[in-house]
Amino acid sequence: MSGADQTTHFGFRDVPLNDKQTLVNDVFHSVAQRYDLMNDLMSAGLHRLWKQLMINALDPSRGDTRFCLLDVAGGTGDIAFRAAQAAGPGFRATVCDINSDMLAVGRERAVAQHLDDRVSFVEGNAEALAFSNNTFDAYTIAFGIRNVPRIDCALSEAFRVLRPGSRFLCLEFSTVDVPGLDRIYDLFSFNVIPPLGRAVTGDAESYRYLVESIRQFPRPAAFADMIRSAGFSRVGWQSFSGGIVALHSGWRL
Ligand code: SAM
Repeated sequence: MSGADQTTHFGFRDVPLNDKQTLVNDVFHSVAQRYDLMNDLMSAGLHRLWKQLMINALDPSRGDTRFCLLDVAGGTGDIAFRAAQAAGPGFRATVCDINSDMLAVGRERAVAQHLDDRVSFVEGNAEALAFSNNTFDAYTIAFGIRNVPRIDCALSEAFRVLRPGSRFLCLEFSTVDVPGLDRIYDLFSFNVIPPLGRAVTGDAESYRYLVESIRQFPRPAAFADMIRSAGFSRVGWQSFSGGIVALHSGWRL
């Protein structure tokens, strides 16, 4: 079946596979300027803690040795900046994202934080990375993979561009598994986040998509199988905040 005939989820809607990326791009073009503020408001600042836990797991080299991180769907640069702050002088990050508006905000932030010499921004698609095989020492993707239409292609590309012995880390919303918290989380997600999105960005629909897309993402064990199928070894995950998010990990051996 070609991409024109296949369907996929865009939130709770079924859409042609080939249309999903355009719809996703519209979401992030619409919210880019207020994306970082909305993250703080929606998560009460918790996204900072989750991202820091990802950086702790990444544990970038603190020395002079060259360490090249590829942060895919890196948007406004949060993961790359945090990694740069934790790392030594040999650290370089490439933030790759399909959305020029998100990247533009990221570039401004890099200059403001004096990190523009160590963090660069490149427009590109996770499904078809414009980098050579065996280029990077680590690959991160935070809250990005569920937006990519062909997740299996993105995982294969991650494997291809990583050097043998390097790490794949994926932070993503997951499945709440604490009785009681699941109902509160659903109520908050569907009743608070879209109106908050309307108040802050003027766009409730984009935030409805974000909430719905979380529910469509595979459960952690199923996603771990996808990571294994892409070729990664020692695949595992850790759940945080009652399963609101999970940090998936694999090694390219
Ligand atoms: N990683 C950042 C963070 O944690 O704050 C941004 C995450 S944001 C929720 C999702 C990002 O995925 C957006 O910037 C969007 O443009 C990007 N994205 C969606 N589809 C993509 C694709 N196929 N390739 C690369 N980036 C993509």
